Amino acid sequence: MARPENTLAFDGGWEYDPAPEATDHVHIAARYGLFIDGEFVRPATGRYFDTINPATEERLARIARAGTEDVDKAVAAARKAYSGVWGRMKPAERGKYIFRIARMIQERAREFAAVESLDGGKPIRESRDVDVPLAAAHFFYYAGWADKLGYAFPGRSVKPLGVAGQVIPWNFPLLMAAWKLAPALACGNTVVLKPAETTPLTALKLAEVIADAGLPPGVVNIVTGAGDTGAAIVEHPGVNKIAFTGSTEVGKIIQRALAGTNKSYTLELGGKAANIVFADAAIDQAVEGIVNGIFFNQGHVCCAGSRLFVQESVADEVVAKLKDRMETLIVGDPLDKNTDIGAINSKMQLDKIEEYLKVGQAEGGTLHQAGGRVPKKGYWCRPAFFTGVSQSNRVVQEEIFGPVLAIQTFRTFDEALEKANNTPYGLSGGVWTDKGAKIFRMTQGVRAGVVWANTFNKFDPTSPFGGYKESGLGREGGLHGLDAYLKPGA
Ligand code: NAP
Ligand code: MG
Repeated sequence: MARPENTLAFDGGWEYDPAPEATDHVHIAARYGLFIDGEFVRPATGRYFDTINPATEERLARIARAGTEDVDKAVAAARKAYSGVWGRMKPAERGKYIFRIARMIQERAREFAAVESLDGGKPIRESRDVDVPLAAAHFFYYAGWADKLGYAFPGRSVKPLGVAGQVIPWNFPLLMAAWKLAPALACGNTVVLKPAETTPLTALKLAEVIADAGLPPGVVNIVTGAGDTGAAIVEHPGVNKIAFTGSTEVGKIIQRALAGTNKSYTLELGGKAANIVFADAAIDQAVEGIVNGIFFNQGHVCCAGSRLFVQESVADEVVAKLKDRMETLIVGDPLDKNTDIGAINSKMQLDKIEEYLKVGQAEGGTLHQAGGRVPKKGYWCRPAFFTGVSQSNRVVQEEIFGPVLAIQTFRTFDEALEKANNTPYGLSGGVWTDKGAKIFRMTQGVRAGVVWANTFNKFDPTSPFGGYKESGLGREGGLHGLDAYLKPGA
């Protein structure tokens, strides 16, 4: 398999030898069918599309493109499995299958991590240390609830919804599949899941695990395709619940399509999180947190800390330290364990980010971008931040979904809070301070589903996650995530 060149963002700095993850244990088939009723089948459309490696622009595999007939078959298989087996199975038995999936993900962790980095472009360090372990953790966590639903919701009769249609994005492909599948299965629902067009491979590998785990056919169906495949799932009359994670734009289309139907739904949408740094914060620690908040996974993170508010008296220091730190980040081969910033997921996404770099400057912002070279082939963006921007600027208001930060300053607590809340989004936020009282006031004041204090981008299956305002509706994770797959109030 061709590899991108190993590149340092820091010209004249120290050199690391490449430490590439091996890929000899990874098997990617030349072509994948749809996973329906327990087996891989050809699509009725007869059509396939390529999934590529964004670090080399080479094709990894041909992927089936599901049409409405295929979605029909998948929903029918899910319905049959729901009424025939899964919906009636003893909860403790269901739990055993889910535990088995969790263990098998752990056993194949290295393979999952390498495939995730190949298909999506994220650094192996993240797919290995974050995506894959967290995906397994979600299956473990929800497997444990399967036979304890009565304790989770005392006094309520706990009934599954039926067939769940799930549509997920490309930024955490395996992890998003785990977030969706694990609670749905634990509650006794069956599923039709569609991964994103650019990152279908780990979901298809998960289909292999599901088949190997012996799950009854039709309990999980995985249909690959583009936006129209997702729309066919959303509009299918045989689906009882829609769980969507993706952009606010598509979320609104879905909400319109679901209005007036009796389908339940949860929407996890975009974000523009504020990271707020007070003068009394541990500055070096905060700088690391800011770096992690926006440059983690190339900024392809819904809850990325893409707006930074720094208290005026420490602004120069924070900006200088951030600039120094940014210059040391290594952009390059996602399979190299030294890499901090991998490939941008697609050409389309790269074009969008580059457009924002221009827009920010045209609006009067000053762009600071790390120096250094990037590989010639593949999609790359050196990390960057803007200073001299104001609240009305597009780079401050709109989700860029790339390694680009917008920095502003504030003087008082109230000013920071007001600026942080001046956004149509409300998914996450961060506060950096030495004072507990400020943490409590800020976490209560920021209108966002999760607010981290003196840390950022930390996830755990036990804690609910989700947005306010245009960041979505409903919660995933924890008990809230279970509730979303049970009949309301029954
Ligand atoms: P997207 O364009 O909205 O796509 C998400 C999924 O929906 C993909 O599988 C996509 O298929 C499918 N889709 C596209 N059009 C559709 C339609 N009309 N009906 C039904 N499905 C449709 O989002 P993305 O670019 O993949 O992901 C980035 C976005 O996800 C960002 O806004 C990010 O903030 C958000 N996100 C939110 C969370 C959260 O928990 N709140 C987590 C992760 C990401 P194709 O891939 O084929 O287009
Ligand atoms: Mg790909």
